[in-house]
Order: sequence, then C-alpha cells, then structure tokens
Amino acid sequence: RGYAAACVEAIGAARTLLHGAEERLGRMDAIAGDGDHGRGMVRGVDAAAAAASAALTAGAGAGDVLAAAGDAWADKAGGTSGVLWGAGLRAFGETVGNSSPPGAPVLAAGVTAFADRIVQLGKAEIGDKTMVDALLPFASTFSRAVADGAEPGLAWQDAAREAAAAAEATADLLPLKGRARPLAEKSLGTADPGATSLAMVFAVMGPHFT
Ligand code: ADP
Ligand code: MG
Ligand code: MG
Repeated sequence: RGYAAACVEAIGAARTLLHGAEERLGRMDAIAGDGDHGRGMVRGVDAAAAAASAALTAGAGAGDVLAAAGDAWADKAGGTSGVLWGAGLRAFGETVGNSSPPGAPVLAAGVTAFADRIVQLGKAEIGDKTMVDALLPFASTFSRAVADGAEPGLAWQDAAREAAAAAEATADLLPLKGRARPLAEKSLGTADPGATSLAMVFAVMGPHFT
C-alpha cells in the first residue's frame, strides 16, 4: 500500500472525527462567531475525501492526491477556515510530492509549508485566537523533533499533544481575527473552534502520514 493510499486514509480519519465533532464545534463557534464551524469542516472534509479517493483511483501520487483534496476542501467548505485548510493541504501536497513515501525531513517540510501558507493567507499571529495558535506549535515541535532524530510517529504524537494544549489555552485569549472579533469578550473561557478542530484533526491524521 503506497503513500497516496495512506493520504486518503488520513483524510478519511479526519472525516470520521469531524462528523462526530460537528455539533460541538458549531456550538463553540456560535458563542462569538456565526456557529458554522462544524458544518464547514464537515462539508470541506467530505469534499476532500471524495476528491482524494477519485485522484487515487485515477492513479495520482500522494502529492496530487493531497492537492486535489485541498482544492475540493477550499471550494466546498465555505468560510474562512475552509479556504485556509484547503490552501494548506495543497501546499503540504506540493511539498511532499509524488515520489512516495516522504522521509521525515520532507514530511517536516510539508507541515511547515502547510503552516506557512495559512499564515501567509490569513495573516494571523500567535495569540490572535485562531487555528494558527495550535498550528505553529505543532509545526515547530514536529520539525524540531525530526531534526533531533526522533521517530516521525512519536514526533507527530508529541506535536499533536502540544497543539491540543495550545488550542485549550486559547480559551484565555480575545479573538483579534475573523468573525469572532466583534463579540470578542463573549469568547473568553471558550477555546477557539478553529484551533480546537485543527489539533483534533492533526492528532488522528498522524498514524497515516507517519
Ligand atoms: P467563518 O469564520 O468564515 O464562519 P469558520 O467558522 O469555519 O469560518 O472558521 C472559524 C475559524 O477560522 C476561527 O475559529 C479561527 O480559528 C479561524 N480563522 C478566522 N480568521 C482567521 C485568520 N485570519 N487566520 C487564521 N485562522 C483564522
Ligand atoms: Mg464560523
Ligand atoms: Mg461562516
């Protein structure tokens, strides 16, 4: 089983997870945002899963599977997080490429490309109470662990733990970007929905990507 198939499985795992978390993510987004984060993530990941499967069936390599998944996600999710997830997945695929499977340094470069693209498009900084608050700790922990020679699966688990803790810590922050900003104070005490979903999705994708 090749790495392209593993990528389809990673997106499938995200799909199962997000269907289960849809309602909770929606409620989190409804506190200061517009309440559609769960729905948007489900729409995006459903489209991504279908596009990834179709690309795999057509013989695409891992990079092209991920790029197709990203394009479908951005196209179908609607909303800010969908555009960012889609563009991030495409950047990840372009970096990982089709000559599978990627070694740990290439995988780390892929994660970094995912993060860079999202920061470049959304222009959020750490502390703005967005998905970036979970994403940057994930990317830096994973890259550092890989550079130190850690086994990729363990490095990914460490990074996912960091991302989950960072997502939880956004509860104490005021949103400075996105739709939650006008009602920022209402979101105090609730974690950012986009940071929460990102940490959860990365956690379940790990065993497939590594
Ligand atoms: P929308 O805000 O368009 O309804 P979603 O509800 O799906 O989209 O996503 C909201 C999430 O998007 C927020 O919780 C936050 O994590 C993330 N987000 C919003 N704006 C930005 C941004 N500029 N950069 C990065 N992430 C952002
Ligand atoms: Mg929303
Ligand atoms: Mg919306």
